[in-house]
Amino acid sequence: MTRTTLPAPGPLVRARAYLGRAAAIGVAMARFAKLGRKDGVDNGVRAFRALGREIGGALRGRGGDRDCTLCGWSGERFGPIYYVDSYREDTLCYACGSTDRVRLLPLFCRDTLAPFFGEKRRRVLDIGPLSNSRRFFPDDVDYVSFDLYAPHAMVRGDLVAAPFADATFDLWVCFHVLDLIEDDDRAMRELYRILAPGGVGLLDNAMNWNAPTEEYGRARPEEAMHRRRYGHDLPDRLRKIGFEVEIVDVERTFDEATRARYGIHPRKFLVCKKPSAGAA
Ligand SMILES: [Zn+2]
Repeated sequence: MTRTTLPAPGPLVRARAYLGRAAAIGVAMARFAKLGRKDGVDNGVRAFRALGREIGGALRGRGGDRDCTLCGWSGERFGPIYYVDSYREDTLCYACGSTDRVRLLPLFCRDTLAPFFGEKRRRVLDIGPLSNSRRFFPDDVDYVSFDLYAPHAMVRGDLVAAPFADATFDLWVCFHVLDLIEDDDRAMRELYRILAPGGVGLLDNAMNWNAPTEEYGRARPEEAMHRRRYGHDLPDRLRKIGFEVEIVDVERTFDEATRARYGIHPRKFLVCKKPSAGAA
């Protein structure tokens, strides 16, 4: 395993993280109250209680069996993540704000994809990067981060007209970006174009695997500005563009102990391969 052990955040970093979390919960509650969503406000109260338990445990010096793959935080449980009508415990890293879908990426890239990265030096495009997402990938890659707005992105631009030549990258990561883009078909074609033959794309969105894609017709503020909820037709849409699509089930990919330790919940994401040149 190539993952390096990260130093755990010190007490000051922890205190600042917990304060920041409390402020974020307060802001979200105010927003939900303004939207008239009592369910959202109630979820905020539950989140405050979970934060209180976490701080209490930390003050008593109680260790934990949860570890963040990104920042080295450890504790009893990850924090909850919630929207107006959903609440999921043990998901959000109090220190770096990563969620389970983000924490699984370093595991997947550094372990599951170790042979891919071991073959040669890879060119990686990180679309919609977090400030610390360089850590997803092995050290010896050529890394480019790309976003429409994020100040920490190395290249700023729009995915529907990606400012990269054809076949520039061996791997891209596109987590929770497509559902924000109006012309997602064009974005998918760009994702195909900029990937080298034999290259791999890791794609994730909020999914409802039991229904076809639901188009909202607008960006929904109450759903983090998502324009749609993708459904079971997404893999076939990508196949039509030319990708070979594999659905990765994290419950099969990571054992139970690993999932518990890193707070990874059951989910599926897509591995989109561009066929090698000359492949039938
Ligand atoms: Zn973290």
